[in-house]
Amino acid sequence: MTAIPLVDLQAAHAEVAEEVREGFDRVLASGAYIKGPDVAAFEAEYAAFSGVRHAVGTANGTDALELALRALELPPGAGVVLPANTFVATAEAVVRAGLRPVLVDADPEYLLIDPARVAEALPGAAALLPVHLNGQLAPMRPLLDLAEGRPVVEDGAQSQGARQDGRLSGSWGRISATSFYPGKNLGAYGDAGAVVTDDEELATAVRLTGDHGSGRKYVHERFGFNSRMDTLQAVVLRAKLRRLPAWNEARRAAAARYDRLLAGLDGLSTPRTLPGNEHVWHLYAVQVERGRDEVLAELQAAGIGAGVHYPVPVHLQPAFRGLGYAEGSFPVTERAAGRILTLPLYPQITEDQQSRVAEALAKALTKI
Ligand SMILES: *Cc1c(COP(=O)(O)O)cnc(C)c1O
Repeated sequence: MTAIPLVDLQAAHAEVAEEVREGFDRVLASGAYIKGPDVAAFEAEYAAFSGVRHAVGTANGTDALELALRALELPPGAGVVLPANTFVATAEAVVRAGLRPVLVDADPEYLLIDPARVAEALPGAAALLPVHLNGQLAPMRPLLDLAEGRPVVEDGAQSQGARQDGRLSGSWGRISATSFYPGKNLGAYGDAGAVVTDDEELATAVRLTGDHGSGRKYVHERFGFNSRMDTLQAVVLRAKLRRLPAWNEARRAAAARYDRLLAGLDGLSTPRTLPGNEHVWHLYAVQVERGRDEVLAELQAAGIGAGVHYPVPVHLQPAFRGLGYAEGSFPVTERAAGRILTLPLYPQITEDQQSRVAEALAKALTKI
């Protein structure tokens, strides 16, 4: 039987192949590979998609987070509260912006940043950086209330098109970042990212800082670096953005199908959606009560590309030892890291493929 990948990027490519080829031909004929009309068009389209006035393309999502944080001009070394349960890039961006990561634990039900823990950590911090993990928004209303005017920056790398109470990912914070890493819901053919905001000054700051501090050739107004979007990536992203609402809808249907197929399996719990959230299912992550690693190995042996997001939380990574957190600092996140199992999910996954995943998972669980 053919393997079932965690994500099937070829299937997505097949849908946009013609449009991408025509666009690439156009760019290659023009000889302009950085920024250009396709990047400007994508920025306008992505801003509209996100329900904000401005989008600025960047070289990747980590840079987008760094640029968003830098644009706020917080005092050097100021604390930024972020969840321990996230991809390491969220914390990297804080450090690279000259700020101090203040990690907090997740809530046990949804594994999103826990407002109760945020309330404890915020008094000594200058900003809040929630992560919309796996495709659903962190609880934004409580978080904005707690922030009491401190800037809120959304990490929307996993949540393009997701909503909470009808309001889009990227439109809640003062400024937000996203990633178009190939495996994300909206993925480029290489690295790319974007910052989105309603604030024109912040958008300009991001644009200048990501282009050597320059708005006009040979005039460098502020310290910057190089983080621009490639024109070829904008071509891909424009073609895929048109399909994204339908693709997110297909992900929701696939997640609902997994919910049904996996209901009642012993030793397994399916992911929960925070009330008010319209999920975009970047990842469908179940929790395995016992023997997660054995279950993962069984699935992989059966040709099923299951994964773990993320097996080692940020605070236990060697690179972040300097932050001073020890094992036991964030019990919910640490417990989840030992139980999480990500199942294959992408817009084009078939019912048959999902049934095979569910059968293999049920079989693996009986062996534990
Ligand atoms: C992917 C991701 C990033 C970083 O994006 P890159 O484009 O890989 O730099 C940041 N935060 C989260 C939560 C992510 O999933």
